[in-house]
Amino acid sequence: MSDYSVDTKCLHSGWVPGNGDPRQVPIYQSTTWKYSTSEDMGKLFDLEASGYFYTRLQNPTNDYVAAKLCDLEGGVAGMLTCSGQAANFFAVFNICEAGDHFIASANIYGGTYNLFGVTFKKMGIECTFVDQKLPLEELQKYIRPNTKCVFGETITNPTVDVLDIEKFATLAHNNGIPLIMDNTFATPINCRPFEFGCDIVTHSTTKYIDGHGSSVGGAIIDSGNFDWMAHADKFPGLCTPDESYHGLTYATAFGKGAYITKATAQLMRDFGSIQSPQNAYYIQLGLESLAVRIPRACANAQKVAEFLASDDRISWVKYPGLKTDSQYELAQKYCPKGTCGVMCFGVKGGREASIKFMDSLKFATIATHVADCKTMLLHPASHTHRQLTDEQLAEAGIPADLIRFSVGLEDPDDIINDIKQALDKIS
Ligand SMILES: *Cc1c(COP(=O)(O)O)cnc(C)c1O
Repeated sequence: MSDYSVDTKCLHSGWVPGNGDPRQVPIYQSTTWKYSTSEDMGKLFDLEASGYFYTRLQNPTNDYVAAKLCDLEGGVAGMLTCSGQAANFFAVFNICEAGDHFIASANIYGGTYNLFGVTFKKMGIECTFVDQKLPLEELQKYIRPNTKCVFGETITNPTVDVLDIEKFATLAHNNGIPLIMDNTFATPINCRPFEFGCDIVTHSTTKYIDGHGSSVGGAIIDSGNFDWMAHADKFPGLCTPDESYHGLTYATAFGKGAYITKATAQLMRDFGSIQSPQNAYYIQLGLESLAVRIPRACANAQKVAEFLASDDRISWVKYPGLKTDSQYELAQKYCPKGTCGVMCFGVKGGREASIKFMDSLKFATIATHVADCKTMLLHPASHTHRQLTDEQLAEAGIPADLIRFSVGLEDPDDIINDIKQALDKIS
């Protein structure tokens, strides 16, 4: 579907029904597939033929939905995982092993920060977190001989900073390694990181892609642009024979499909973090309206951010769509159509005023979820980070008064009025 715009691809990529087929993607609610001969089945296990045999590795419903997302991102191959966490885990672990190192922006989702900094360390993989605002020359100093990838988020959760993708891609490519970007907040509607040199994209489909808070999921999409064999010494997992598949070498056997094939054949086989086909179906429904929902979320967020910036009961507001925002220029370059519906702000009066404000909201919901069709908010100091003192919060880069506000698809005037009446209750 490469000639169509993302709006059309949201509806028509992936599942293309033949004559008499169901219009909507069928849910293949089956663990296993039937084959007529033992040889047919054997070829699948040798990766000599493509086909389905067990849903722990692959399922057609998932693959149709992954194909749509892959087309939206402009990639060559994609897969769904059971969560965004699993997607980021697989994306890195597919090319890093014990003794390896990688670089990630320090400004990333808390769950990913923990995965990279704590859990990967236990597996012998070291992550150095860097300030994404540093110039290229400074970032280069963190590269080591065993550094295998660079990671960042297009728009960071929760601080809504916009990553300079070209700078990070240059850093990665100058050192013969790929750039992996988590594109959850921007979605392919507002940014396609491959167009700026990124090699692999991940998603928490739990957020805007599902959009309705129905199912946790993730995805990995490969651009097919990174030449693994040109850096074969760094990526033995892709460029040397896999003994668990009779000595097959992914990079030579599968070309541009090598990275996703390895992640499916090896990591899904061994870790089994697959998305249920039922959840893949929900994501597919979400994708159909993504191109309509995202501009609306952004337009609403712009109005809410402008209102917050004009109200003197608000101490600060951070939204890349505001002309005064530190991220405005990067946002214009990488997300000219808009960024996302998420913003942060502080209510004057600190922790107590923030709590009173949140408890007074009528339909804006206190929830750990974000990037949804309904307006939701979270106050890290009283929720996700409640065990930390104000000083510890400051060290973690999270002001005690920071409220993460995820603007939904309601009437923007109703959202603003809900905020107004809650602010009235503080004073
Ligand atoms: C939520 C989120 C994740 C983790 O995704 P889950 O689906 O909750 O596992 C990863 N990255 C970003 C940017 C997120 O917002």
